Amino acid sequence: MPRPMVVYIRSLAYSGTTWINLVLGSNPAAFALGVPDRIWSGGVTEAARLCSIHGAQCEFWPRYFEHWRGPGSAMSVLAETAGARVVLLNNINMNLLAEHIVDDEVDLRYMVVLRDGRANVTSALRHTPDLFLNRYNAMRTWLKPAWENLFNGLPRDDERMLVLKYEDMVCAPDATMARAGAFLGIEYSSDAFRYWEHEHHYIGGNTGTLGLLRDMRGMPRAKHAREGYYQELAKSARTQPEAPVLDESWRDYLSRDDLVAYDYLCGELHAAMGYERDHIGADELRDFRERNGLPDDSANAPETIVHSMPPEPGQPAAVPPAEIPHAQDRGLIARLKGLFGR
Ligand SMILES: [Zn+2]
Repeated sequence: MPRPMVVYIRSLAYSGTTWINLVLGSNPAAFALGVPDRIWSGGVTEAARLCSIHGAQCEFWPRYFEHWRGPGSAMSVLAETAGARVVLLNNINMNLLAEHIVDDEVDLRYMVVLRDGRANVTSALRHTPDLFLNRYNAMRTWLKPAWENLFNGLPRDDERMLVLKYEDMVCAPDATMARAGAFLGIEYSSDAFRYWEHEHHYIGGNTGTLGLLRDMRGMPRAKHAREGYYQELAKSARTQPEAPVLDESWRDYLSRDDLVAYDYLCGELHAAMGYERDHIGADELRDFRERNGLPDDSANAPETIVHSMPPEPGQPAAVPPAEIPHAQDRGLIARLKGLFGR
């Protein structure tokens, strides 16, 4: 069997990566692995708990470990067991990648998934509100540095590296799947969007995306924090199964002050990625900065501000996060502008 292609998908948390991984894995040539760290950390004894879909009933992972020949063969054994040529994994710890995914064993490629940062920060605040002192700090200490590090250590050539946007996958599915397919050497049909109808043995993953798979397969699932939204999603998947739905709930979640803070901190990066900036007037921005004691240049803004944008009602005030070294990456902005033509 030829070397399998392993695609390392990197993204910020809450970028729709589980969904993209499962959709791209909905073809006989591809296997959606998810977050593989537990293969190595738990090994054979954990096999029964690896699969997010079948849990202890999974027949795939125990079969994989029967063929296991040690860490250096992890991906080729996986491709053989799955009968797939492409393995998609996401957000693996880089040390594990270097240790366990041996260059000679696989044809290693990279994919970066981007999403509108207003959606990322909304989901992060919803899921882990007590990690952040307030919304400004979530943008300043998590979103912005995470973006600035997103391309670190990744190759620059188009043959080994593809950048995809979550919104393109949702709003221009055919063209975006054709691009991804050309990169992976797979001809996709639109039935990949009915990812719940394909065989998967995913590790880790987003509970919403996996919950929809369970709903569509008639499997029980835990109640979701946004239960109403996911029930609507399942309804839409039953009537228009190949039409993905754009989650834009950040529009209701973020206040005007949040949007001003976002534009002040991340507006330039946001625009460089080809997203449309909010229309923030010069007076509005000045008023925001003065109220919060912030300098003109967001690169010099403090890591935390405490006297504005209090935590969500009912949420405990969090401990200020440790200082994260920060540098405005002009190279990154230029590169993103090159990628997205602005
Ligand atoms: Zn399984």
